[in-house]
Amino acid sequence: MPKDIPQLGCAKSPVLKERGQHEVFCGLTSIVWLHRKMQDAFFLVIGSRTCAHLLQSAAGVMIFAEPRFATAILEETDLAGMADVHEELDRNVSQLLSRRPDIKRLFLVGSCPSEVIKLDLATVAEKLSEKYFPNVNVINFSGSGIETTFTQGEDACLEAVIRSLPSSERTQLAVLGALPDIVQDQMMRLLNELGLEDIFVLPQIKFDDEVSVGPNTHFICVQPFLGASYEEMVRRGAIPISANFPFGAEGTTKWLWAIAERFGVSKAVFDAVVAAPKLRAEQAIESVANDLRGKSVFFFPDSQLEIPLARFLSNECGMELTEVGSPFIHKSLVYADLEDLPSSTQISEGQDVDKQLDRVFDYDPDLTVCGLGLANPLEAKGLSTKWAIELVFSPIHFYEQAADLASLFARPLNRAKLLKVSA
Ligand code: SF4
Repeated sequence: MPKDIPQLGCAKSPVLKERGQHEVFCGLTSIVWLHRKMQDAFFLVIGSRTCAHLLQSAAGVMIFAEPRFATAILEETDLAGMADVHEELDRNVSQLLSRRPDIKRLFLVGSCPSEVIKLDLATVAEKLSEKYFPNVNVINFSGSGIETTFTQGEDACLEAVIRSLPSSERTQLAVLGALPDIVQDQMMRLLNELGLEDIFVLPQIKFDDEVSVGPNTHFICVQPFLGASYEEMVRRGAIPISANFPFGAEGTTKWLWAIAERFGVSKAVFDAVVAAPKLRAEQAIESVANDLRGKSVFFFPDSQLEIPLARFLSNECGMELTEVGSPFIHKSLVYADLEDLPSSTQISEGQDVDKQLDRVFDYDPDLTVCGLGLANPLEAKGLSTKWAIELVFSPIHFYEQAADLASLFARPLNRAKLLKVSA
């Protein structure tokens, strides 16, 4: 092997396990993007004033729209008062549903306070589902910061949805993961051009959309943080399709090819469909990659997008990986991307901020991808940073977004360069 081509393959490399405190947003944050995808759903958080404040500030823009989430604030109570809590919740739901007949799916979302943990939300949801059948489907999941990081909120929600889906023998493709509408449309266009028609996406836009699952359902994820949903699909008999995640030209091509292969699409048809958008994406990445090539990057664990994004930055933009941290690693989901990372990359799972800070200062990378709370202190120490959460809220999947994805990483580097010049 020539010297300048790095050896690939991290799937079997030792993973540095960190078991300190997590410093990321909780799963309630995912309601901010989930409510946009599910147009007839309402998210009722059973929580504290802190939960209400988080949602208000994270999704402040909703103030101008018909709200599709709220917080039922649970005041301190003792165990003897729990019966009243159930009645109170019942009353709240009844008022909400009589005021809002457009709600077809009601999600009861659990949170951290001990009063909420004492509640058996699964049983509450089951009883309410029976009571409001067939008009409203009531499902519960946890967005608690003790159990979930911000992207795991989507995972917990989809897992609960999958559990409640009817069974079927239908041969179909299921795509798991919320995408911005425009990106989802591009994906569907590509899949349709490959000749695939029986496709559904979770989260589904409307509850009435016909969605079922069974042994002839083949499924693939567009987000690497859907480990519990993946397991639930397998438990329901569906067959996973493993691939790289659709970031960049290469990631998108490998993701689409894995589906094409599963459904018997010929290589000739596949090449004809992807040739033009792939070339466009490669050229667009190339125009940005000049600013990234040879620069080093360190990922703090945050969104669980880290491993596929590291693959994109290394293989398609020429960046050098130092450490790639992820809060949780679902190997069955990210195996292909791990296999495509340079074998010298240090992979870490979990968080121990102090130790990770020591390491990032040792590496002194050109770019550090991290949570909001770490960005300012690191910038003050002279490091260039990228907020990980921005990657979750930006359209970054598939061919047409490939250059924008590269630009998100190039921007802080260019800003640092400009600051140096003008200093
Ligand atoms: Fe805070 Fe927990 Fe509520 Fe999240 S769920 S806002 S971490 S109290």
